[in-house]
Amino acid sequence: MQVQNHWQGRTRYTVFDSDYGDGARVAALIAAWRVDPQRPRHLHVVALATDLQAGFHRIPQPDAGVTLDLLAAPLETALAELNAHLDFIRLHDAAGSAFARPLARLTTLGARLAAPGLDDDQRAALTAQGFVFEDPGHAVFASRKPRLPVTPEPVRHALVLGAGLAGCALAARLCARGWQVTLIERHPAVAMEASGNLAGIFMPLLSRDDNVPTRLTRAAYLYALRLWAQLGGVGQAFDGAACGVLQLARDADHAAVSRAIADEHTLPPDFARWLDSADAEALLGLPAPDGGWLFPQGGWARPGSVCEALLASCGARLTRLFGAGDVTLERAADTWLARAADSAVLAGAPTAVLASGAGARRMALTADLPLQTLRGQVTHLAPGAAPQLPLVLCREAYLTPSAQGVLCAGATYDLDADPALRTSSQLENVTRLRALVSDPHAAEAAPLAGRVGFRCVAPDRLPLVGRLPDFAAAGSTERLRDVPRHPGLYGLLGYASRGLIWAPLAAELLAAQLEGEPLPLEMALVDALDPARFVLRARRGGRQAANTAFEL
Ligand SMILES: Cc1cc2nc3c(=O)[nH]c(=O)nc-3n(C[C@H](O)[C@H](O)[C@H](O)COP(=O)(O)OP(=O)(O)OC[C@H]3O[C@@H](n4cnc5c(N)ncnc54)[C@H](O)[C@@H]3O)c2cc1C
Repeated sequence: MQVQNHWQGRTRYTVFDSDYGDGARVAALIAAWRVDPQRPRHLHVVALATDLQAGFHRIPQPDAGVTLDLLAAPLETALAELNAHLDFIRLHDAAGSAFARPLARLTTLGARLAAPGLDDDQRAALTAQGFVFEDPGHAVFASRKPRLPVTPEPVRHALVLGAGLAGCALAARLCARGWQVTLIERHPAVAMEASGNLAGIFMPLLSRDDNVPTRLTRAAYLYALRLWAQLGGVGQAFDGAACGVLQLARDADHAAVSRAIADEHTLPPDFARWLDSADAEALLGLPAPDGGWLFPQGGWARPGSVCEALLASCGARLTRLFGAGDVTLERAADTWLARAADSAVLAGAPTAVLASGAGARRMALTADLPLQTLRGQVTHLAPGAAPQLPLVLCREAYLTPSAQGVLCAGATYDLDADPALRTSSQLENVTRLRALVSDPHAAEAAPLAGRVGFRCVAPDRLPLVGRLPDFAAAGSTERLRDVPRHPGLYGLLGYASRGLIWAPLAAELLAAQLEGEPLPLEMALVDALDPARFVLRARRGGRQAANTAFEL
């Protein structure tokens, strides 16, 4: 059976293909979707690919109605980590039969399976799970056993509180899906709090054991690069440069661990390249005694210009309520209402998203989340006060190339709430900068200049993405899926020091959750971002005290 004969009359349709190959089959499917008057409104394609780094990769598409996920994982693992409702399944040369059960968990009633070349054991395993074979290579799924919960068709109108990177990225991903978005901001313009820096750095994270933060950061970094390319490119769609980032090793031990990671040869050279001392020094023109990682596609961007580019892509579906002052949210029947400080109702919608950064700590609905505010001061230097580099250089500190005629060096991590620039923070930045560029006179007599911002940080330093928990109603919950949640209330919080790359993937994930689309991340990683993780941790006694020492 052809996929096109089966999708007619459906609003949403998901195809799984166990072999992306050269992409020609998927390209033909999307081309057929484009011209079919009876096409589903949303087409989702999920396919296994072999030539990508391990993990799930969402590839931005020119058609707003299409999503494409390429999963770089063995079939059984990919199915176990996938959250999707499959309507058409193509299997090619599957090995063993252990995939039958995780496949059935994802399969919708009436879904079609096309699987030439199955052996008798595989057919028996699929039959046991509810597939009814019409001929040796084709089956229909007939089991009514409850599987993954189905998301009801949403009312596509959301209030988004906060016009920093988090809120602007969500507005873009929701408007692309046909949502009306009311974006509410205390200030008269975007990016006037944490997202207001002249330059933020973007780069991935590496670890020997490829742990959860590393996998999440990789997924976020790669998705951000792809989304920005679709927007028009870094330096074109917004201010910045994909000039590369060189992260110097802290010492010989750090260099040895890094070299061991490099020797595993799993990292594509355009993602990360280990440079020994001589190569790093040749690139930099400065001492680099222990070498460093080069991230060739990394760089810097001005977050405020990223916000503006994202909102420009929203079109007429976006309503800006800026200059709104301190807004609170309240639930009335099935609607979230945004109220101004004088209690006037500004807007209402069935869905509300808190993308309010450090402001979340002051809101009653999020007061129980263990979020901390960390002050950061960046130092702005005139060109000439420090070396002008061809790329971003970092270790404990960082130095950017000239951003609009300014070199940015930073940043401090402080527990106090002082909004003013201060000399002690500048001295801290300058001291670290001198060590970074091996020049004891760098930034000598630099005037006090820069910017102070406040990061919103969770104890595990991972963002919070998803439905917000109701701590008061939590009782003795042991599992994430049982944690009571506020109806229709979501969070995009805790972007810490990586807001540039968290924002696009977190927005895409939340938009997919709201729509009931396939999720762009492995379930283990989705769970690691679930704001309700702190309800379970609080219950297990693991809740962090307010003055926890963060690993920075
Ligand atoms: C010094 C410093 C250096 C950094 N360096 C980097 C870097 O190199 N790379 C990187 O990726 N990230 C960096 N970051 C982190 C990055 O800036 C943040 O992760 C990101 O800006 C967070 O975006 P956000 O939208 O969550 O928060 P914000 O930008 O703070 O946006 C939240 C918005 O919500 C609004 N708001 C809050 N409460 C209310 C309310 N009640 N009513 C109305 N409006 C409200 C606020 O006014 C604000 O505009 C740095 C941060 C700092 C402070």
